[in-house]
Amino acid sequence: MDRQQEFVLRTLEERDIRFVRLWFTDVLGTLKSVSVAPAELESAFDEGIGFDGSAIEGFARVFESDMIAMPDPTTFQVFPFEGGVSGESARMFCDVLLPDRTPSWADPRHVLRRALSRAAEKGFTFYTHPEIEFFLLEDGPNDGSVPVPVDAGGYFDHTTHAVARDFRRQAVLALERIGISVEFSHHEVAPGQQEIDLRYADALTTADNVMTFRHVVKEVALSHGVQATFMPKPFTDQPGSGMHTHLSLFEGERNAFHDASDPMKLSKVARAFIAGLLVHAREYTAVTNQWVNSYKRLFPQALPDRITESPAYVCWGHLNRSALVRVPAYGKPNSARVEVRSIDSAANPYLAFAIMLGAGLKGIEEGYELPPGAEDDVWALSNAERRAAGYETLPENLSEAIDVMAGSELVAEVLGEHVFDYFLRNKRAEWEQYRREVTPYERERYLGAL
Ligand code: GLU
Ligand code: MG
Ligand code: MG
Repeated sequence: MDRQQEFVLRTLEERDIRFVRLWFTDVLGTLKSVSVAPAELESAFDEGIGFDGSAIEGFARVFESDMIAMPDPTTFQVFPFEGGVSGESARMFCDVLLPDRTPSWADPRHVLRRALSRAAEKGFTFYTHPEIEFFLLEDGPNDGSVPVPVDAGGYFDHTTHAVARDFRRQAVLALERIGISVEFSHHEVAPGQQEIDLRYADALTTADNVMTFRHVVKEVALSHGVQATFMPKPFTDQPGSGMHTHLSLFEGERNAFHDASDPMKLSKVARAFIAGLLVHAREYTAVTNQWVNSYKRLFPQALPDRITESPAYVCWGHLNRSALVRVPAYGKPNSARVEVRSIDSAANPYLAFAIMLGAGLKGIEEGYELPPGAEDDVWALSNAERRAAGYETLPENLSEAIDVMAGSELVAEVLGEHVFDYFLRNKRAEWEQYRREVTPYERERYLGAL
């Protein structure tokens, strides 16, 4: 038993914790959990916990359904705020293994680990910093009716309405208590919309943190009698919820994106990385934006008093919020980074971080040239102007996104054949199901008029 494992067992005993949740994630990014008693944990560290993979999205075909969840003791956290009658509980993320104890090709954590080791072979560590937007809504039935936001606040508003403010304070405190550092939190543009930004860390930690974050935020919302949703676009006439993610590569202690001698302080590595993100953007959009609803967010929508600020065209810019990739102004060399603005709050963070890293590394390997940045408001250009500037359009719906992804060698390589095939099959089925639906919009518009 190693020291981390011993620490876990000792902590459980000292704090008299009766439940340990073992967490892992399915291909679509849904959190799965199995509780074990502390007494079982010693053997779980050795042998793992067996489960039936065929019951879980994307994990196995029926004839090879036995899977093993191996707890990762470095992710151990006590959840002090989940007291109640049963006392404190704790959780660990797991790596999923096949019966022969090799990593499961279906485990999103493994997909990310594999991408990270490819970066490590080149001497890079990959850091991410997600800004997570979501809505707080009055509790109600999820029956398709239009939900009611908990407040009427707007960007950075210090709402007098108590729910959102208390909620953010409690959510941030809860996150800090389980070791997830929060950098900023504020009210976002739309009524009921919140944003909480996590401090940057290595990508595996931040992906785990995003999963924990969603769980904690939903729990804190429940305790306030409201609902938190990470649905990308719950309202027709309000902006959607993005999960803008800041990316950087480090070589040892040094930020490899920074170059003091460059006018924009961007290194060659950073430029090639951005070029990779752009060249492959259309191919990986199905992964960063995986739901039918994701594409209701990904286009510039002029609302009465604002624009939705989500990207629709493949270009990059310095400070430019209409671009897919933005290079934010930064102070210290080590905070050099690029922000991808397409990814939404309902993405599977493991797969999304893996594919963005894969695209960036491809740019570095192949020495892609970075095209000139977009200094204009790209939303305001005409189609002809955009074509002349060479800005491609992101896929307009899930169907187009999966068609482009299906032809991508890069996405197949990064996700691995099994996840790639499963993902495409699952998403085609989602699209087919959506496609046959006759929507309230159509009845309203056509029934009387035609
Ligand atoms: N909510 C916007 C989006 O969907 C982003 C607003 C912002 O710039 O933070 O991406
Ligand atoms: Mg925001
Ligand atoms: Mg942002």
